[in-house]
Amino acid sequence: MVYFIQCGNDGPIKIGKSIDPVRRLQILALSAPSKLRLLATIPGSRDEESRLHRQFAEDRLYGEWFHPSPALLALIASFQDSWNSLCRFEPRLLDLLKTAEAIKDDRAKPAFCANAIWYHGIMQDGTVLPHSLKWELTQLVGWEANTNLLNLRTSGAYGIAYNAIYDALPACRNCSCL
Ligand SMILES: [Zn+2]
Repeated sequence: MVYFIQCGNDGPIKIGKSIDPVRRLQILALSAPSKLRLLATIPGSRDEESRLHRQFAEDRLYGEWFHPSPALLALIASFQDSWNSLCRFEPRLLDLLKTAEAIKDDRAKPAFCANAIWYHGIMQDGTVLPHSLKWELTQLVGWEANTNLLNLRTSGAYGIAYNAIYDALPACRNCSCL
């Protein structure tokens, strides 16, 4: 996951990547000059982290720390509204994200197919999950979601969650779906 951690209430913001942003916050706090706050986390890999570092290059102070510019703060606020608010209503989305993030492309194998996992639950080693990731997601958000929370039963909610979770899977490589 990509995280945004701020030093103090208006201090610099670190844009970093960790599979456990809360743990990372605790470690960083040991050597921080002010209280650290985890502003937001978004699903994403090293690529997403690099893209954000480039996007906010002008605000860069040093290393992964950035000036809290209005543009950066606005972006973080938008993340707080969408993915994070969905997860507050439906915490099992985070479990599904963790499942997707734990799936790695074993480069020793000739091919990897994210869509085989997503649509059919067929893993790279040929084992088959009880349910596809898509099926799991449709139980939580979207029109067919098994919930009384109407804000989750929208295509918009499904789209946000789909982007988050599908993007956490490694990209297709040498597979037949391409
Ligand atoms: Zn594929």
